[in-house]
Amino acid sequence: MEYPLRHAESTSTEIGPLVEFCAAHRRLFVLTGAGVSTASGIPDYRDADGEWKQRQPVDYRDFVSSPATRQRYWARSLVGWRRFVRAHPNAAHYALSELEQMGRIAHLITQNVDDLHRRAGHRRVVDLHGRLAGVLCLECGSRFARASVQMQLVLRNPHYQHLSAPDAPDGDAHLEQRDFSDFDVPGCAACGGVLKPDVVFFGENVPGERVSEAYAALTRADAMLVIGSSLMVFSGYRFVRRAVEQGKRVAAINLGRTRADELLSLKVSAPCIPVLRELRAALE
Ligand SMILES: [Zn+2]
Repeated sequence: MEYPLRHAESTSTEIGPLVEFCAAHRRLFVLTGAGVSTASGIPDYRDADGEWKQRQPVDYRDFVSSPATRQRYWARSLVGWRRFVRAHPNAAHYALSELEQMGRIAHLITQNVDDLHRRAGHRRVVDLHGRLAGVLCLECGSRFARASVQMQLVLRNPHYQHLSAPDAPDGDAHLEQRDFSDFDVPGCAACGGVLKPDVVFFGENVPGERVSEAYAALTRADAMLVIGSSLMVFSGYRFVRRAVEQGKRVAAINLGRTRADELLSLKVSAPCIPVLRELRAALE
């Protein structure tokens, strides 16, 4: 496939070109990924080469078809949620929120499910992969707050309450080598159906209306900036492809390789926080 724009990649830790890029494109479409939340203590899925750091997260079809997979997921989630819910926005989230208030960001879509952009005061956010703070019934479509489901999980499984294990990226924890067959998974309070966190699992499609909303925002934007994502998941990568097809320039701030490196006009290979702080100061 041929793209209308194919700039030579410029990879640097200097932010001068990025400041110029943002100054030249007032209606910026920003896509953020796990790299923005790692400083808040939420683990990243992939290493600098885009490879899995840990075992691949839960698969949608497994979750829907296998009660044992759901027992394992909710058991791990019971343990992981306690720390996930205590994570706070970091300086990257606050810098982006301030850039929005300064009129420098028109749209922000995130692959993160932690809600930290909104908690940092960011107003226009599309949660591409949903929010872990919500739970959905797969039978009747009822939605519940994760906090209330957490109470049910703990009440039914008090012996899990004080376990601790390393955090995992889906808001669960690495409780391995444990038999989960005694774990009591609550059903939907309205119909008894299967409950699923309101996030897009691997192997599951992003809801069509959410993708359309994000594409419409991209169409209205002047350029795209990717922050802290290796773009290995197609749900994020497709926005870079669409931007380039529309003749828009794409810049990225990311430590390590991205799937879209050859489509980028500009790349800053550095951690998000110092770059965004400098960018914010330079654009003031
Ligand atoms: Zn239901």
